[in-house]
Amino acid sequence: MTDQDMNELKLELAKSIRMLENIQLLDMNGHVSVRVPNSEYFLINARKASRASISVEEIVMCDMDGTLVEGELEPPSELHIHNEIYKRRKDVSSICHGHPHWQTVLGIADIPIKPVFSIGSFVKAFTYFEDSSLINYSEVGQKLAEALGEDTVIQLRHHGSVVVSTDIKSAFATAVYVEEHAKKLYYAALLNPKHKVLEGDNYRRTSETAWSPSIVQKVWNYYEEKADMENVFKGILGK
Ligand SMILES: [Zn+2]
Repeated sequence: MTDQDMNELKLELAKSIRMLENIQLLDMNGHVSVRVPNSEYFLINARKASRASISVEEIVMCDMDGTLVEGELEPPSELHIHNEIYKRRKDVSSICHGHPHWQTVLGIADIPIKPVFSIGSFVKAFTYFEDSSLINYSEVGQKLAEALGEDTVIQLRHHGSVVVSTDIKSAFATAVYVEEHAKKLYYAALLNPKHKVLEGDNYRRTSETAWSPSIVQKVWNYYEEKADMENVFKGILGK
């Protein structure tokens, strides 16, 4: 990978973190990572870097044991979410972990999160991980990775969620729509306990048409442009 490619990857990661923070999906403690192509390493935000103002200089590199291999700053304490999933899932190249409000509320209320609207219905599974503690050592990370299995989303009860995908932009789009399902489901459940989720053939057909690389790019472009208009990327290149 050339230095220019590495810098572009760090910039895209820093942008994703600021964008997710800006739409309240990450909060001050969440983290996003990306696998460095054709390597045994991944990039992730530094633990103490502000998610609202992170720059490319605050992105660090770790190996698959969670050891820091590049950068001076400490990685997040929940780093083991990332290295344990990357070790098991060769198809995964980006991971988001945040503490989104509506998903957490539904987890506390014990209302299973299901796809409930057509846009975003590509998100297929919302299983729960019952250990609500920080994923700050490798044994819990391993348990989480096993519980995730081949899915793209797992809810951490009383804690947040983990989203995995093939690249930064599709992980971003997935994170956006999981929270949209949770928010809509919250209000629908208040209005009617017998609310209707997407299911059966209707769900299958809807979800098949809801996901394509162009849709992912459209979602990314929309939020990137909004963030740009709100000056969210100020100072992202560092000094
Ligand atoms: Zn967490």
